[in-house]
Amino acid sequence: MPAAVRDYEKNAWMSQSARFEEAAARLNLDDGLSKILRTPAREITVAIPVQLDDGRLEVFTGYRVQHSIARGPAKGGIRYAPDVTLDEVKALASWMTWKCAVVNIPFGGAKGGIICDPRYLSPAELERMTRRYTAEILEYIGPEKDVPAPDVNTDEQVMAWIMDTYSMHKRETTTAVVTGKPIDLGGSRGRREATGRGCMMVCNEACKKLGLEPASARVVIQGFGNVGSMAALLMREQGYKIVAVSSLEGALYNPAGLDIPALIEHRKRHNSIAGFAGAEHIDRDEALLLDCEILLPAATENQITSANAGRVRARILCEGANGPTSADADEILDANGVFVIPDIMANAGGVTVSYFEWVQDRQGYFWNLDLVRSRLEEIMTQSFHDVVRYAETHQVNNRTAAYMLAIDRVAFAIKLRGLYA
Ligand code: NAD
Repeated sequence: MPAAVRDYEKNAWMSQSARFEEAAARLNLDDGLSKILRTPAREITVAIPVQLDDGRLEVFTGYRVQHSIARGPAKGGIRYAPDVTLDEVKALASWMTWKCAVVNIPFGGAKGGIICDPRYLSPAELERMTRRYTAEILEYIGPEKDVPAPDVNTDEQVMAWIMDTYSMHKRETTTAVVTGKPIDLGGSRGRREATGRGCMMVCNEACKKLGLEPASARVVIQGFGNVGSMAALLMREQGYKIVAVSSLEGALYNPAGLDIPALIEHRKRHNSIAGFAGAEHIDRDEALLLDCEILLPAATENQITSANAGRVRARILCEGANGPTSADADEILDANGVFVIPDIMANAGGVTVSYFEWVQDRQGYFWNLDLVRSRLEEIMTQSFHDVVRYAETHQVNNRTAAYMLAIDRVAFAIKLRGLYA
């Protein structure tokens, strides 16, 4: 019988803290700086009363956590899910700080969430909830303060509502208050695909490093939402063979490679990957353990833990999701020689193009798709090699290297700014 997941492995904040403490110790980080960096700068909890379509009133709980603004305005997505917790949002906010520092873009880190199940909310209820949440956190967000973006179960439409609510209060159209907006409202070309594209780019670099050919690399993807489906599509175009994908409903397996455009079409039509004809249906969680060259989790936290890490057979783990691997699992993956491209590097394509969007909004001048893609490639490739070189120089694994690089950059900014007393 497989081992059970240890309780603390289910807590994303504890996973984040374990990695922070290890990297800070290796850096010999000053005690005072450690104290600053281990504590989120601001944690906001708001009550969000919403009139439902049937006339009843419901009160939702929302969070916005700003972990750090040392290197620039706080930046991070907003998720809508029934299992959102303050600890999870704190972890996600910290990861945003480290991620922005790894790819060296001038942002701090934040994250938001509302405890709700969007499957049971109508579009009108979602809009009212989004606008009231925005109003509740209004004085804390803004192009120079904190810039939200989409995350799990939020999309371009939700960003448009946030942008409009903020702009109505300010009495001026402020496109740069959020990223991941529709292109017609100041969104960037290439934003929707950016996280998946970034994953594809770092997988290409990892394959080169390990002497693997994309054409002979089998890929398993957990999650078929924004990140997972875009990564699948773009990697297939590069010649990778996507042998399995999973989503909440189950998993599909085809050793000859799945027809990803057809699967995307199927999901659009049926709102699910279930029932797709070109594959065998397998157990959702077994997909993580399939024999493959690349495993790309793109769903949610804590999917690879001490309970299953020893059975992961991939050569490369590319973390499209935030926090898919627990700290205990890291040790097992390390011992088994899995090449980990850590989340704060692997999925940074999204925030990088969000940065491009923010720059374009502030300039009022918009780039073409080729420019977005080439600048994204420059940043993702450079950051991948920065992390791998750091790992080799300091004899640590890629995750610790990414944290050390990031913490060092943020700590340096804090030192330069000094302490305002
Ligand atoms: P999404 O809501 O579009 O998709 C999530 C997918 O995961 C869905 O297909 C869902 O069915 C699936 N899923 C959930 N639990 C699962 C499970 N236990 N097993 C298999 N599948 C499961 O979300 P997204 O925007 O694609 O984000 C996915 C992850 O990537 C999250 O961790 C998010 O924080 C991270 N991320 C997203 C972006 C972005 O630009 N969207 C950027 C960086 C990181």
